[in-house]
Amino acid sequence: MLKLYETRSRQVLPIAGRGGALKIYCCGPTVYRDAHVGNLRTFLLSDLITRAAILTGLEVTLVQNITDVGHMADDLEDKILAQATTESLDPFVIARKYEDRFHLDLQRLNIAPANSYPRASDNINLMIAAIEKLIEKNFAYVAPDGNVYFDAQSFPSYGAISGNRLDALKPGHRYEYSEDGTKRFHADWALWKLARNRTEMIWQTPWGAGYPGWHIECSAMSLEFLGDQIDLHIGGIDLRFPHHENERAQSNALIGKEAVTHWIHGEHLLFEGRKMSKSAGNVLLVQDIIDKGLDPLSARLAFLENRYRSQMDLTWASLEAAHSTIKRWRTLVNSDLSTSMLAPDSEFIDAIMNDLDTPRALLRLRAIEKSGALTSAEKSAIFRSADQFLGLDLSRAPEKKSLSAEQSQLLELRRQARAAKDFAESDRLRGLLEESGLQIKDGPDGQSWD
Ligand code: AMP
Ligand code: ZN
Repeated sequence: MLKLYETRSRQVLPIAGRGGALKIYCCGPTVYRDAHVGNLRTFLLSDLITRAAILTGLEVTLVQNITDVGHMADDLEDKILAQATTESLDPFVIARKYEDRFHLDLQRLNIAPANSYPRASDNINLMIAAIEKLIEKNFAYVAPDGNVYFDAQSFPSYGAISGNRLDALKPGHRYEYSEDGTKRFHADWALWKLARNRTEMIWQTPWGAGYPGWHIECSAMSLEFLGDQIDLHIGGIDLRFPHHENERAQSNALIGKEAVTHWIHGEHLLFEGRKMSKSAGNVLLVQDIIDKGLDPLSARLAFLENRYRSQMDLTWASLEAAHSTIKRWRTLVNSDLSTSMLAPDSEFIDAIMNDLDTPRALLRLRAIEKSGALTSAEKSAIFRSADQFLGLDLSRAPEKKSLSAEQSQLLELRRQARAAKDFAESDRLRGLLEESGLQIKDGPDGQSWD
């Protein structure tokens, strides 16, 4: 049975599902920009959990929302509307553009599609109905400023996921976008906001024209599309608070019981030792990996080298190493396909089921790769079986490209330049070779290429 670390109970718990089925909700992308590789690490987590659960015989239903309205930036501007202004495009055009690119990136990383991707903007009615019900049940109120807020103090177990209890939350602390409102309590959050000067992406409601808060969309859509018992709710660690804390309060208040059995969080990804941020200029996209001539699945393997709940640092060196490993494994798998797929290796599966210990699973595969006791055909069969979980396309024949006549000539010229210690010329030729798609390495035995 699969076991996972569950945030609310702070324990590793068995994931049994109910009646052979497992219902999973994974918070999806805000579609105002390309997903960066960190976002994709989190989306990979729901894929890995799904694949592992399927291996245990569960039937998985996975729903992932598309946030195309209501997610505010620190300056209180809607992220989609701000990007629409930057690109001089209609906000819905922006949302659809980045939604398409999100699906493309999922494909490139072999992240299996969810069963459905409900959009926030297509489900405003569900949110309005949920908010009406929360008001009716006295969990929410219309404030003098006209916005509708959730009354945090009406939900006594607030803080169970993150440990941030209401009495410890100080006013003014940046745990929720600090609206100048007329909230009853500083930790209350907006369910519905009045449009005021806003003219786009607004809807009519009993409280006036406006738009939903970000948190209510996940409650409304998860309950609608998965029902009132959701086995797993997944997201990046930053969503633990306030997003998931607020979602839990809303959902539980709506249905009068615990809506989500297990809350699962993936740790963040750093790139070259730093948090990825636009201002630092170090946001890495899948396209950047492809542009370097690396297989995008290198990112997938690099992620698997680390456990989902450890923070990890992705580097170009680790991506290049992963690229070489994938090539080597594809060569191994295709070297002898005469044995049909074997049952998965038990130690490999054991590591996966033990809270997705992917580093240990990969160590086991490397031991199998080196083993003198197994034939190439057996190794190939074991790797193909492991790939049902790994998703590295190991059955794909490794790409073999031969050098063009021009590349051969440039390599020869560069060899001569290096022999003559003409390093300026050698660097110029390296530039041309790299532009043509080769990677050049200089070692003690001279130059080599890939
Ligand atoms: P967003 O598109 O900003 O709503 O984020 C989508 C998902 O990516 C959420 O589950 C976030 O928690 C997650 N996320 C954001 N930054 C990172 C990161 N650096 N590493 C891993 N996951 C992240
Ligand atoms: Zn969510």
